[in-house]
Amino acid sequence: MAIRPALVLTVLMACSLCAETEPARATQPSRAQAGVLFPPAVVEAARHNAATLPWGKTVRDHVVTTTSSWANLSDDELWSLVFGPTITRSWMVWSNGHCPACEKSVPMYNWEMDALKQPWKTRCPHCKALFPTNDFARYYRTGLDEHGIFDPKKADRTLLFNTAHPDPNDPLHQFGVIAVEELARVDGSLALGLAAHTSLGTYPIYAFGTEEQRRRWVPRLASGKGIAAFALTEPDAGSDAQGTRTTAVQDGDGWLVNGTKFYCTNGTHASTIVFTAVTGTAPGGKKEISAFVVEKGTPGLKYGAKEVKLGMRSSDTRVLHFEDMRLPAGNLLGGPESRGAGFKKFMLTLDGGRISVGAISVGLAQGAIPACRTPWCRRKCRYRECCR
Ligand SMILES: Cc1cc2nc3c(=O)[nH]c(=O)nc-3n(C[C@H](O)[C@H](O)[C@H](O)COP(=O)(O)OP(=O)(O)OC[C@H]3O[C@@H](n4cnc5c(N)ncnc54)[C@H](O)[C@@H]3O)c2cc1C
Repeated sequence: MAIRPALVLTVLMACSLCAETEPARATQPSRAQAGVLFPPAVVEAARHNAATLPWGKTVRDHVVTTTSSWANLSDDELWSLVFGPTITRSWMVWSNGHCPACEKSVPMYNWEMDALKQPWKTRCPHCKALFPTNDFARYYRTGLDEHGIFDPKKADRTLLFNTAHPDPNDPLHQFGVIAVEELARVDGSLALGLAAHTSLGTYPIYAFGTEEQRRRWVPRLASGKGIAAFALTEPDAGSDAQGTRTTAVQDGDGWLVNGTKFYCTNGTHASTIVFTAVTGTAPGGKKEISAFVVEKGTPGLKYGAKEVKLGMRSSDTRVLHFEDMRLPAGNLLGGPESRGAGFKKFMLTLDGGRISVGAISVGLAQGAIPACRTPWCRRKCRYRECCR
Protein backbone atom coordinates (compact mmCIF):
# COMPACT_ATOMS: atom_id res chain seq x y z
CA MET A 1 0.00 0.00 0.00
CA ALA A 2 1.21 3.53 -0.73
CA ILE A 3 2.68 5.03 2.43
CA ARG A 4 1.12 8.47 2.22
CA PRO A 5 -2.54 7.35 1.95
CA ALA A 6 -1.84 4.81 4.71
CA LEU A 7 -0.52 7.51 6.99
CA VAL A 8 -3.33 9.91 6.17
CA LEU A 9 -5.86 7.17 6.86
CA THR A 10 -4.16 6.29 10.12
CA VAL A 11 -4.19 9.88 11.34
CA LEU A 12 -7.84 10.29 10.33
CA MET A 13 -8.79 7.11 12.12
CA ALA A 14 -6.81 8.12 15.16
CA CYS A 15 -8.69 11.43 15.10
CA SER A 16 -12.04 9.63 14.83
CA LEU A 17 -11.03 7.60 17.85
CA CYS A 18 -10.90 10.84 19.82
CA ALA A 19 -14.22 12.10 18.47
CA GLU A 20 -16.39 11.28 21.45
CA THR A 21 -14.44 13.37 23.85
CA GLU A 22 -14.88 12.72 27.54
CA PRO A 23 -13.68 15.19 30.16
CA ALA A 24 -9.96 14.78 30.85
CA ARG A 25 -9.22 12.69 33.90
CA ALA A 26 -6.29 11.14 35.69
CA THR A 27 -2.77 12.51 35.62
CA GLN A 28 -1.75 14.90 32.88
CA PRO A 29 1.44 14.08 30.91
CA SER A 30 4.24 16.60 30.99
CA ARG A 31 4.38 19.25 28.24
CA ALA A 32 7.24 17.35 26.63
CA GLN A 33 5.07 14.24 26.29
CA ALA A 34 1.95 16.04 25.08
CA GLY A 35 1.62 16.42 21.30
CA VAL A 36 0.08 19.31 19.38
CA LEU A 37 -2.28 17.10 17.36
CA PHE A 38 -3.30 15.00 20.36
CA PRO A 39 -3.38 17.12 23.54
CA PRO A 40 -3.88 15.34 26.89
CA ALA A 41 -7.69 15.66 27.00
CA VAL A 42 -8.03 14.17 23.53
CA VAL A 43 -5.64 11.30 24.33
CA GLU A 44 -7.59 10.58 27.47
CA ALA A 45 -10.89 10.48 25.54
CA ALA A 46 -9.37 8.19 22.90
CA ARG A 47 -8.14 5.78 25.58
CA HIS A 48 -11.56 5.82 27.18
CA ASN A 49 -13.31 5.09 23.85
CA ALA A 50 -10.88 2.26 22.97
CA ALA A 51 -11.42 0.66 26.38
CA THR A 52 -15.21 0.94 26.54
CA LEU A 53 -16.67 1.06 23.00
CA PRO A 54 -16.50 -1.77 20.40
CA TRP A 55 -15.84 0.62 17.48
CA GLY A 56 -13.16 2.33 19.55
CA LYS A 57 -11.37 -0.98 20.03
CA THR A 58 -11.61 -1.76 16.27
CA VAL A 59 -10.14 1.60 15.32
CA ARG A 60 -7.40 1.31 17.97
CA ASP A 61 -6.39 -2.17 16.74
CA HIS A 62 -6.29 -1.02 13.13
CA VAL A 63 -4.13 2.00 13.97
CA VAL A 64 -1.74 -0.12 16.03
CA THR A 65 -1.38 -2.70 13.22
CA THR A 66 -0.89 -0.06 10.52
CA THR A 67 1.75 1.85 12.43
CA SER A 68 3.64 -1.14 13.87
CA SER A 69 6.14 -1.23 10.96
CA TRP A 70 7.09 2.37 11.83
CA ALA A 71 7.06 1.88 15.59
CA ASN A 72 9.66 -0.89 15.25
CA LEU A 73 12.16 1.35 13.45
CA SER A 74 14.96 3.07 15.31
CA ASP A 75 15.17 6.87 15.36
CA ASP A 76 18.13 6.70 12.94
CA GLU A 77 16.13 4.58 10.51
CA LEU A 78 13.21 6.97 10.70
CA TRP A 79 15.41 10.01 10.11
CA SER A 80 17.02 8.35 7.09
CA LEU A 81 13.57 8.26 5.46
CA VAL A 82 12.97 11.98 5.86
CA PHE A 83 13.29 13.98 2.66
CA GLY A 84 16.16 16.40 3.26
CA PRO A 85 16.06 20.01 2.10
CA THR A 86 18.37 18.95 -0.75
CA ILE A 87 15.49 17.19 -2.48
CA THR A 88 12.65 19.38 -3.60
CA ARG A 89 9.43 17.90 -4.87
CA SER A 90 8.80 18.73 -8.44
CA TRP A 91 5.74 20.38 -9.89
CA MET A 92 4.32 17.01 -10.96
CA VAL A 93 4.17 15.79 -7.37
CA TRP A 94 2.79 18.79 -5.51
CA SER A 95 0.13 19.83 -7.99
CA ASN A 96 -2.47 17.99 -10.00
CA GLY A 97 0.08 17.14 -12.64
CA HIS A 98 1.01 14.16 -14.72
CA CYS A 99 3.73 11.56 -14.99
CA PRO A 100 6.70 12.74 -17.09
CA ALA A 101 7.27 9.14 -18.27
CA CYS A 102 3.80 7.99 -19.41
CA GLU A 103 2.16 11.45 -19.43
CA LYS A 104 -0.98 10.10 -17.73
CA SER A 105 -2.76 12.34 -15.24
CA VAL A 106 -1.68 11.92 -11.60
CA PRO A 107 -3.58 14.09 -9.09
CA MET A 108 -1.63 15.40 -6.14
CA TYR A 109 -1.97 12.63 -3.55
CA ASN A 110 -2.04 9.72 -5.98
CA TRP A 111 1.72 9.35 -6.29
CA GLU A 112 2.77 6.12 -4.59
CA MET A 113 5.50 6.09 -1.98
CA ASP A 114 7.19 3.21 -0.24
CA ALA A 115 9.69 5.02 1.93
CA LEU A 116 11.08 1.76 3.37
CA LYS A 117 11.84 0.00 0.09
CA GLN A 118 12.37 3.04 -2.15
CA PRO A 119 13.58 5.88 0.07
CA TRP A 120 13.21 9.42 -1.28
CA LYS A 121 11.28 8.26 -4.33
CA THR A 122 7.75 8.61 -5.63
CA ARG A 123 6.21 6.18 -8.10
CA CYS A 124 3.71 6.78 -10.88
CA PRO A 125 0.54 4.77 -10.16
CA HIS A 126 0.15 4.01 -13.90
CA CYS A 127 3.55 3.09 -15.36
CA LYS A 128 5.36 2.62 -12.00
CA ALA A 129 8.25 4.87 -13.10
CA LEU A 130 10.25 6.21 -10.13
CA PHE A 131 11.13 9.89 -9.59
CA PRO A 132 13.48 11.60 -9.12
CA THR A 133 15.66 9.51 -11.41
CA ASN A 134 18.85 10.39 -9.50
CA ASP A 135 19.57 8.42 -6.33
CA PHE A 136 19.60 11.40 -3.97
CA ALA A 137 19.26 9.17 -0.89
CA ARG A 138 22.56 7.47 -1.76
CA TYR A 139 24.19 10.83 -2.47
CA TYR A 140 22.95 12.08 0.91
CA ARG A 141 24.34 9.04 2.74
CA THR A 142 27.80 9.47 1.17
CA GLY A 143 27.93 12.99 2.61
CA LEU A 144 27.11 12.19 6.24
CA ASP A 145 29.94 13.00 8.63
CA GLU A 146 30.67 11.28 11.94
CA HIS A 147 27.94 13.36 13.62
CA GLY A 148 25.35 12.35 11.03
CA ILE A 149 25.36 15.85 9.50
CA PHE A 150 25.35 16.21 5.73
CA ASP A 151 28.56 17.75 4.41
CA PRO A 152 28.38 18.54 0.66
CA LYS A 153 32.20 18.50 0.45
CA LYS A 154 32.24 14.87 1.58
CA ALA A 155 29.38 13.71 -0.65
CA ASP A 156 30.06 11.80 -3.86
CA ARG A 157 29.23 14.26 -6.64
CA THR A 158 29.61 11.59 -9.31
CA LEU A 159 26.17 10.36 -8.19
CA LEU A 160 24.63 13.61 -9.42
CA PHE A 161 24.54 13.24 -13.17
CA ASN A 162 22.18 13.51 -16.10
CA THR A 163 20.38 10.17 -15.88
CA ALA A 164 19.36 10.41 -19.53
CA HIS A 165 23.10 10.10 -20.32
CA PRO A 166 24.50 7.51 -17.88
CA ASP A 167 27.84 6.91 -19.67
CA PRO A 168 30.51 9.03 -17.86
CA ASN A 169 32.28 9.52 -21.21
CA ASP A 170 29.17 11.02 -22.76
CA PRO A 171 29.72 14.80 -23.01
CA LEU A 172 26.15 15.32 -21.80
CA HIS A 173 26.74 13.22 -18.64
CA GLN A 174 27.12 16.37 -16.51
CA PHE A 175 27.38 18.96 -19.20
CA GLY A 176 24.50 21.33 -18.62
CA VAL A 177 24.98 22.08 -14.98
CA ILE A 178 28.78 22.16 -14.88
CA ALA A 179 29.08 24.49 -17.90
CA VAL A 180 26.50 26.90 -16.51
CA GLU A 181 28.10 26.82 -13.05
CA GLU A 182 31.58 27.51 -14.48
CA LEU A 183 30.34 30.37 -16.67
CA ALA A 184 28.42 31.95 -13.78
CA ARG A 185 31.65 32.00 -11.77
CA VAL A 186 32.96 34.70 -14.11
CA ASP A 187 29.86 36.04 -15.88
CA GLY A 188 26.32 35.50 -14.61
CA SER A 189 24.77 37.07 -17.72
CA LEU A 190 26.49 34.67 -20.09
CA ALA A 191 25.49 31.73 -17.91
CA LEU A 192 21.87 32.92 -17.86
CA GLY A 193 21.93 33.33 -21.64
CA LEU A 194 23.23 29.79 -22.11
CA ALA A 195 20.73 28.32 -19.63
CA ALA A 196 17.80 30.13 -21.28
CA HIS A 197 19.04 28.99 -24.70
CA THR A 198 19.52 25.32 -23.82
CA SER A 199 17.25 24.27 -20.96
CA LEU A 200 14.40 26.75 -21.54
CA GLY A 201 14.38 27.59 -25.25
CA THR A 202 15.73 24.49 -27.00
CA TYR A 203 14.67 21.72 -24.63
CA PRO A 204 10.88 22.01 -25.19
CA ILE A 205 11.34 21.72 -28.96
CA TYR A 206 13.65 18.73 -28.51
CA ALA A 207 11.44 17.04 -25.90
CA PHE A 208 7.92 17.88 -27.07
CA GLY A 209 8.25 18.86 -30.74
CA THR A 210 7.18 16.65 -33.62
CA GLU A 211 9.94 14.95 -35.60
CA GLU A 212 9.54 17.62 -38.28
CA GLN A 213 9.82 20.46 -35.74
CA ARG A 214 12.92 18.94 -34.20
CA ARG A 215 14.62 18.62 -37.58
CA ARG A 216 13.59 22.14 -38.50
CA TRP A 217 14.89 23.95 -35.40
CA VAL A 218 17.07 21.83 -33.10
CA PRO A 219 20.22 21.35 -35.28
CA ARG A 220 20.59 25.10 -35.76
CA LEU A 221 20.10 25.74 -32.04
CA ALA A 222 22.36 22.88 -30.92
CA SER A 223 25.19 24.06 -33.19
CA GLY A 224 24.97 27.59 -31.79
CA LYS A 225 24.03 29.09 -35.15
CA GLY A 226 20.70 30.07 -33.63
CA ILE A 227 19.79 31.21 -30.12
CA ALA A 228 16.60 30.13 -28.36
CA ALA A 229 14.32 31.90 -25.88
CA PHE A 230 11.35 31.00 -23.70
CA ALA A 231 8.41 33.34 -23.12
CA LEU A 232 5.95 32.34 -20.41
CA THR A 233 5.83 35.31 -18.04
CA GLU A 234 3.27 38.06 -18.68
CA PRO A 235 2.34 41.28 -16.87
CA ASP A 236 -0.45 39.37 -15.07
CA ALA A 237 1.10 35.92 -15.13
CA GLY A 238 4.38 35.61 -13.22
CA SER A 239 4.31 32.99 -10.47
CA ASP A 240 0.72 32.32 -11.52
CA ALA A 241 1.62 31.17 -15.02
CA GLN A 242 -1.89 29.86 -15.59
CA GLY A 243 -3.04 33.49 -15.68
CA THR A 244 -1.72 33.76 -19.26
CA ARG A 245 -3.70 36.29 -21.32
CA THR A 246 -1.93 36.02 -24.68
CA THR A 247 -4.37 34.47 -27.14
CA ALA A 248 -3.94 32.39 -30.27
CA VAL A 249 -7.07 32.16 -32.38
CA GLN A 250 -7.37 29.72 -35.26
CA ASP A 251 -7.17 31.68 -38.48
CA GLY A 252 -7.53 29.64 -41.65
CA ASP A 253 -4.71 27.07 -41.61
CA GLY A 254 -2.77 28.89 -38.92
CA TRP A 255 -3.04 31.02 -35.80
CA LEU A 256 -3.48 34.70 -35.07
CA VAL A 257 -1.60 35.66 -31.90
CA ASN A 258 -2.04 38.74 -29.71
CA GLY A 259 -0.56 39.51 -26.33
CA THR A 260 2.48 40.62 -24.31
CA LYS A 261 5.27 38.62 -22.68
CA PHE A 262 7.56 39.99 -19.98
CA TYR A 263 11.17 39.29 -19.02
CA CYS A 264 12.12 37.21 -22.04
CA THR A 265 15.82 36.31 -21.70
CA ASN A 266 17.73 36.40 -25.04
CA GLY A 267 14.69 38.29 -26.43
CA THR A 268 16.14 40.13 -29.45
CA HIS A 269 18.99 37.63 -29.99
CA ALA A 270 16.69 34.65 -30.28
CA SER A 271 16.12 33.03 -33.66
CA THR A 272 13.25 30.99 -32.15
CA ILE A 273 11.07 31.77 -29.14
CA VAL A 274 8.79 29.18 -27.55
CA PHE A 275 5.78 30.76 -25.87
CA THR A 276 2.37 29.94 -24.41
CA ALA A 277 -1.03 31.28 -25.46
CA VAL A 278 -4.65 30.60 -24.61
CA THR A 279 -6.26 28.69 -27.48
CA GLY A 280 -9.71 28.13 -25.96
CA THR A 281 -11.46 26.78 -22.88
CA ALA A 282 -10.59 23.34 -21.52
CA PRO A 283 -13.26 20.92 -20.22
CA GLY A 284 -14.04 22.10 -16.69
CA GLY A 285 -13.83 25.77 -17.68
CA LYS A 286 -10.06 26.32 -17.25
CA LYS A 287 -7.99 28.07 -19.88
CA GLU A 288 -6.72 25.81 -22.64
CA ILE A 289 -3.06 26.78 -22.93
CA SER A 290 -0.97 25.66 -25.91
CA ALA A 291 2.71 26.14 -26.76
CA PHE A 292 4.00 27.68 -29.99
CA VAL A 293 7.31 28.49 -31.67
CA VAL A 294 7.86 31.86 -33.36
CA GLU A 295 10.85 32.68 -35.52
CA LYS A 296 12.69 36.00 -35.49
CA GLY A 297 11.45 38.31 -38.23
CA THR A 298 7.85 37.09 -38.13
CA PRO A 299 5.59 40.10 -38.87
CA GLY A 300 3.79 41.18 -35.69
CA LEU A 301 6.65 40.13 -33.34
CA LYS A 302 7.83 43.37 -31.72
CA TYR A 303 10.40 44.02 -29.00
CA GLY A 304 10.15 46.42 -26.07
CA ALA A 305 13.12 48.21 -24.51
CA LYS A 306 15.85 46.17 -22.82
CA GLU A 307 15.16 45.93 -19.08
CA VAL A 308 17.62 47.85 -16.89
CA LYS A 309 18.57 45.44 -14.11
CA LEU A 310 20.77 45.67 -11.03
CA GLY A 311 22.68 42.54 -12.01
CA MET A 312 23.21 40.36 -15.07
CA ARG A 313 23.02 43.54 -17.09
CA SER A 314 24.48 42.19 -20.30
CA SER A 315 21.77 39.52 -20.45
CA ASP A 316 19.05 40.72 -22.81
CA THR A 317 15.75 40.78 -20.88
CA ARG A 318 12.85 42.04 -23.00
CA VAL A 319 9.17 42.68 -23.28
CA LEU A 320 7.74 41.01 -26.39
CA HIS A 321 4.59 42.19 -28.11
CA PHE A 322 2.61 39.92 -30.40
CA GLU A 323 0.45 42.16 -32.55
CA ASP A 324 -1.79 40.28 -34.97
CA MET A 325 1.12 37.87 -35.41
CA ARG A 326 0.25 35.06 -37.85
CA LEU A 327 1.81 31.66 -37.33
CA PRO A 328 1.52 28.64 -39.62
CA ALA A 329 -0.21 25.53 -38.21
CA GLY A 330 3.21 23.81 -38.08
CA ASN A 331 4.35 26.17 -35.31
CA LEU A 332 2.00 24.63 -32.72
CA LEU A 333 4.56 22.79 -30.56
CA GLY A 334 3.97 19.02 -30.67
CA GLY A 335 1.43 19.25 -33.50
CA PRO A 336 -2.39 19.37 -33.36
CA GLU A 337 -2.72 16.60 -30.75
CA SER A 338 -0.67 18.73 -28.33
CA ARG A 339 -3.20 21.54 -28.37
CA GLY A 340 -4.01 22.38 -24.74
CA ALA A 341 -0.88 20.65 -23.38
CA GLY A 342 1.30 23.77 -23.42
CA PHE A 343 1.07 24.57 -19.73
CA LYS A 344 2.22 21.09 -18.69
CA LYS A 345 5.06 21.17 -21.18
CA PHE A 346 6.26 24.55 -19.90
CA MET A 347 6.07 23.43 -16.26
CA LEU A 348 8.15 20.35 -17.10
CA THR A 349 10.64 22.61 -18.87
CA LEU A 350 10.86 24.83 -15.78
CA ASP A 351 11.73 21.78 -13.65
CA GLY A 352 14.98 21.55 -15.65
CA GLY A 353 15.33 25.34 -15.72
CA ARG A 354 15.40 25.44 -11.93
CA ILE A 355 18.47 23.18 -11.93
CA SER A 356 20.25 25.66 -14.23
CA VAL A 357 19.23 28.57 -12.00
CA GLY A 358 20.63 26.64 -9.01
CA ALA A 359 23.88 26.09 -10.93
CA ILE A 360 24.07 29.81 -11.80
CA SER A 361 23.63 30.68 -8.12
CA VAL A 362 26.37 28.27 -7.06
CA GLY A 363 28.71 29.65 -9.74
CA LEU A 364 28.01 33.26 -8.75
CA ALA A 365 28.73 32.46 -5.11
CA GLN A 366 31.97 30.71 -6.08
CA GLY A 367 33.02 33.75 -8.10
CA ALA A 368 32.00 36.19 -5.37
CA ILE A 369 34.34 34.76 -2.73
CA PRO A 370 37.65 35.42 -4.56
CA ALA A 371 36.23 38.71 -5.87
CA CYS A 372 35.72 40.03 -2.36
CA ARG A 373 39.34 39.25 -1.51
CA THR A 374 40.70 41.87 -3.91
CA PRO A 375 42.55 44.84 -2.35
CA TRP A 376 39.78 47.21 -3.51
CA CYS A 377 37.14 45.12 -1.86
CA ARG A 378 39.16 44.89 1.32
CA ARG A 379 39.41 48.68 1.42
CA LYS A 380 35.68 49.12 0.81
CA CYS A 381 34.42 46.25 2.87
CA ARG A 382 32.62 47.55 5.90
CA TYR A 383 32.77 44.33 7.85
CA ARG A 384 36.33 43.26 7.16
CA GLU A 385 35.73 39.87 8.67
CA CYS A 386 34.03 38.74 5.48
CA CYS A 387 37.18 39.33 3.41
CA ARG A 388 39.34 36.90 5.35
C1 LIG B 1 16.52 38.26 -14.98
C2 LIG B 1 15.23 37.56 -15.26
C3 LIG B 1 15.12 36.75 -16.38
C4 LIG B 1 13.90 36.12 -16.67
N1 LIG B 1 13.80 35.34 -17.81
C5 LIG B 1 12.60 34.84 -18.16
C6 LIG B 1 12.44 34.13 -19.39
O1 LIG B 1 13.37 33.94 -20.16
N2 LIG B 1 11.21 33.68 -19.70
C7 LIG B 1 10.12 33.88 -18.88
O2 LIG B 1 9.03 33.43 -19.24
N3 LIG B 1 10.24 34.51 -17.69
C8 LIG B 1 11.45 35.01 -17.31
N4 LIG B 1 11.59 35.69 -16.13
C9 LIG B 1 10.41 35.85 -15.29
C10 LIG B 1 10.42 35.02 -14.03
O3 LIG B 1 10.20 33.69 -14.33
C11 LIG B 1 9.31 35.65 -13.16
O4 LIG B 1 9.88 36.84 -12.68
C12 LIG B 1 8.82 34.79 -12.07
O5 LIG B 1 8.03 33.76 -12.60
C13 LIG B 1 8.02 35.56 -11.01
O6 LIG B 1 7.00 36.30 -11.60
P1 LIG B 1 6.83 37.87 -11.26
O7 LIG B 1 8.15 38.55 -11.51
O8 LIG B 1 5.64 38.37 -12.01
O9 LIG B 1 6.56 37.94 -9.70
P2 LIG B 1 5.18 37.72 -8.95
O10 LIG B 1 4.49 36.51 -9.48
O11 LIG B 1 4.42 39.01 -8.99
O12 LIG B 1 5.70 37.44 -7.51
C14 LIG B 1 6.21 38.51 -6.68
C15 LIG B 1 6.48 37.94 -5.31
O13 LIG B 1 5.26 37.43 -4.74
C16 LIG B 1 5.43 36.06 -4.36
N5 LIG B 1 4.20 35.33 -4.68
C17 LIG B 1 3.60 35.20 -5.88
N6 LIG B 1 2.49 34.47 -5.78
C18 LIG B 1 2.37 34.12 -4.47
C19 LIG B 1 1.42 33.37 -3.74
N7 LIG B 1 0.36 32.83 -4.32
N8 LIG B 1 1.64 33.21 -2.42
C20 LIG B 1 2.71 33.76 -1.82
N9 LIG B 1 3.65 34.49 -2.47
C21 LIG B 1 3.48 34.67 -3.77
C22 LIG B 1 6.60 35.55 -5.23
O14 LIG B 1 7.29 34.47 -4.58
C23 LIG B 1 7.48 36.78 -5.31
O15 LIG B 1 8.31 36.91 -4.18
C24 LIG B 1 12.80 36.30 -15.81
C25 LIG B 1 12.92 37.10 -14.67
C26 LIG B 1 14.10 37.73 -14.40
C27 LIG B 1 14.19 38.60 -13.18
